[in-house]
Amino acid sequence: MKQIFDVIIVGAGASGLTAGIQAARQGAKVLILEHMEKAGKKLLATGNGKCNFTNQKQGIAYYRGKNPAFVLPAFQQFGLAETLQFFRELGVYAKVKRDGYYYPTSGQASSLLETLLMECRRLKVRILYEIGIRSMEQEQGIFLFHTKQGVFRSRACILATGGKAAKKTGSDGSGIPYIVGFGHKLTDIVPALVQLQGKPSFLKEVAGIRAEGVVELYIEKEKIAEDLGELQLTAFGVSGIPVFQVSRYAAYGLLLKKTVSVRLNFLPDLSRRQVMELLEERFFIYGEGKNASEALLGLLPDKLNGVLLKESKILPEKRAKSCHRKELHCLASQIQSLQIEIIGTKGFDGAQVTAGGVDTDEVYPETMESRLVQGLFFSGEVLDIDGMCGGYNLQWAWTSGSVAGKAAAAYACSRKK
Ligand SMILES: Cc1cc2nc3c(=O)[nH]c(=O)nc-3n(C[C@H](O)[C@H](O)[C@H](O)COP(=O)(O)OP(=O)(O)OC[C@H]3O[C@@H](n4cnc5c(N)ncnc54)[C@H](O)[C@@H]3O)c2cc1C
Repeated sequence: MKQIFDVIIVGAGASGLTAGIQAARQGAKVLILEHMEKAGKKLLATGNGKCNFTNQKQGIAYYRGKNPAFVLPAFQQFGLAETLQFFRELGVYAKVKRDGYYYPTSGQASSLLETLLMECRRLKVRILYEIGIRSMEQEQGIFLFHTKQGVFRSRACILATGGKAAKKTGSDGSGIPYIVGFGHKLTDIVPALVQLQGKPSFLKEVAGIRAEGVVELYIEKEKIAEDLGELQLTAFGVSGIPVFQVSRYAAYGLLLKKTVSVRLNFLPDLSRRQVMELLEERFFIYGEGKNASEALLGLLPDKLNGVLLKESKILPEKRAKSCHRKELHCLASQIQSLQIEIIGTKGFDGAQVTAGGVDTDEVYPETMESRLVQGLFFSGEVLDIDGMCGGYNLQWAWTSGSVAGKAAAAYACSRKK
């Protein structure tokens, strides 16, 4: 009699390992098939190796996709409190950094990964590495995985193959044919949490500038999203966490061949009138003996001042007091609305996550089970849910992995009776 596992999980990333642990804790016999030589390679890269694994602030507002409300039933079962408790039991304590970001006290993604693997060993969850899955099918209620290392069988299957972002880590989109093979649709897939490529020629001059501000994203003439924080200007374009947060919308706009642009506001706390008053003070009241460049000195990073003057067509050496109010109006507008046309992104290789994925209309939100194929489950980034920067993508991996793991185990055990 050939061995039949209760649950086979494809992908030993954040969500696959969590699903494996949760399924095994329900008494299921679990096998994880991983095509890389190691588990959790993307997890190791998270938070610059420090692993921002969740966030104090939670809610639907932090998740995106065709239907963000899809996450709610799963969060009711396994939310922030359950996540912190899950990791505490594994030995990982959380410390909060700025903006509610949680990191392990070890400060190491590697130690968090090791605790997941330790628990897998304790629960006898088998992980096979460098597996080459040739095809997958379901025959008389049993899933068959045809691999270079032989055929594996299971009652339930969880696809936890991630998206297409950072393919060096293993999530390279090679799971997509399995999903489609089971008859599932995918929504459009684009890179998210990614740098945006800008058009203007001044980018080379401003490369290296970091300044607090607001980024507003426009598709055609409509403002779609905005975010606040440290903006980074590079020779490539714009970067920084606020840019990451709006990048998925830019990527979708570009996919639809729409005109995409960002407007940067470097003095977001002031109204336009207040910026005008401030410039008038600097140029007309305290501007005696100064040129335009000197009148701006100290307000914003020097390199940026130069670009703003150039874009306002004010010569840096022009006497401050001889500047016209119209010129200052133009300068105020550049300070609060510096426009950069967006012509691309850093692509999947430069992205942290994938937006789009398995269409959530075809998945039960309470269990992560397919509505099309009984016994087939999904977890993590493979689904059409992407989180904001700040620990939300890993939180989705823990949440969906836990729910899928428990539900897959329950399904498999019910089939044995
Ligand atoms: C540089 C970087 C930094 C990040 N920082 C953070 C952060 O600080 N906080 C945060 O919340 N999120 C962060 N993320 C995002 C987060 O890492 C992912 O959203 C999360 O890992 C997704 O988990 P997953 O299990 O769904 O997919 P993954 O972790 O990608 O795991 C998928 C697994 O499936 C395997 N696999 C794929 N295809 C196959 C196949 N055909 N056969 C067998 N195995 C397969 C892969 O090798 C991989 O091991 C970051 C991402 C990157 C790239």
